[in-house]
Amino acid sequence: MFSRILIANRGEIALRIIRACHELGVEAVVVFSQADKDAEYVKLADEAICIGPPAAAQSYLNIPRIISAAEIADVEAIHPGYGFLAENAHFAEICRECGITFIGPSPEAMYRLGDKVSAREIARNARVPVVPGSDGEIADENEAIKIANKIGYPVIIKAAAGGGGRGMRVAHNDISLHGAFAAARAEAEAAFKNGTLYIEKYILQPRHVEVQVLADKASNALHFYERDCTIQRRHQKLIEESPCPVLDEATREELCKAALRLVQEAEYVNAATVEFLLDRDKNFYFIEVNARIQVEHPVTEMVTGHDLIKWQLKIAAGQTLDLRQKDITHNGVALECRINAEDPRRNYAPCPGTITKFIAPGGMGVRVDTHVHQGCVVSPYYDSMIAKLIVHQRTREEAIATMKRALREFRIEPIKTTIPACLEILSHHLFIKSDVDTSFIEQKMG
Ligand code: ADP
Repeated sequence: MFSRILIANRGEIALRIIRACHELGVEAVVVFSQADKDAEYVKLADEAICIGPPAAAQSYLNIPRIISAAEIADVEAIHPGYGFLAENAHFAEICRECGITFIGPSPEAMYRLGDKVSAREIARNARVPVVPGSDGEIADENEAIKIANKIGYPVIIKAAAGGGGRGMRVAHNDISLHGAFAAARAEAEAAFKNGTLYIEKYILQPRHVEVQVLADKASNALHFYERDCTIQRRHQKLIEESPCPVLDEATREELCKAALRLVQEAEYVNAATVEFLLDRDKNFYFIEVNARIQVEHPVTEMVTGHDLIKWQLKIAAGQTLDLRQKDITHNGVALECRINAEDPRRNYAPCPGTITKFIAPGGMGVRVDTHVHQGCVVSPYYDSMIAKLIVHQRTREEAIATMKRALREFRIEPIKTTIPACLEILSHHLFIKSDVDTSFIEQKMG
């Protein structure tokens, strides 16, 4: 195991990684921007290094500053968390050149899977169902129209380099496809400096289901079951759960095995999430791989009892996954609500500010992953997520009841949060029946 690592991230995930390090006897060094200089979690690290002003481009996204901090702190490895540089293959390459272990996949695997056109090809080679669409990149509008007529409308134009829901446009006919193609290309070029597009059939009323996978350097790959992340707003997940409440055992096994085939085909090492859409008839289609730990990983930790961050460290340090698939069990039901500093009544506008009152819920089956506390300032510079509330119970009904009870206990004042929106969703008869799709919030919560 490493003796000392650097955490190139902030907030709750930085704290989550510090905790895993300390339980493993590893020293944790954190970097922080001037906006986070008074953050309490920074004081829990064994060393903390300021890397610049609040703007992410000058701090958490600034590769030379992070590498300098790693060299000054004399660490053996860097954990990138999620967001920021977590899926930046160039950063992983620089770490390697500097002799620092990147706690994640190789840059080669990241390049292969980061490009969605190439990821679709890997999926096809691994006999994993992909959404019907173009075999590769589409050159121009005429080719897009030809493919759209072959697969049938509606279709979705997507950016090969896409992420965060950007560079995607839906088209319902030849006329709207013209506009959609131009808009997707412009957005992809602006956001990713890469205008490569491909086309997929637009799946109607899908659920989002993803499989957690770990793979080690000795080519062992294991899955840790699925998470259902159908409750999203503008492609941003808000409530996640495991197991997926509508999957039968046979489909679930097929889905998990498909995810394993894909990561093995990509010669992937470390933690990955393989994302699928599930249609009304329970057909699943691969959409993308997230080559990092995800925000919603605690849901899987609660139902499997495995600490995924510790596994990431062990795998990066060269340990093998000394487990058999049949030893990874799934117990009960876990739910996660993302508590964002946003005002659901004002179209989820960010709501930064000082927290004057903070009382976290507790009790049986409740886990709170957060770096915030009474008296702390929620900065406007970064993502608005300030806490994750996770519950674990024997049944979905009990999990919903525990979550509602915990959300009602949670006091965060005076800033607005997504707590009331989560409560409303959890009480909705369609959520209770699991009769939802990815448009639920937009369509039903108005
Ligand atoms: P990003 O990397 O930008 O997050 P994804 O490919 O993961 O993009 O897609 C994000 C979300 O967009 C999915 O969870 C789903 O809600 C929707 N989506 C993507 N592709 C399709 C499709 N072919 N049909 C229907 N919805 C889709």
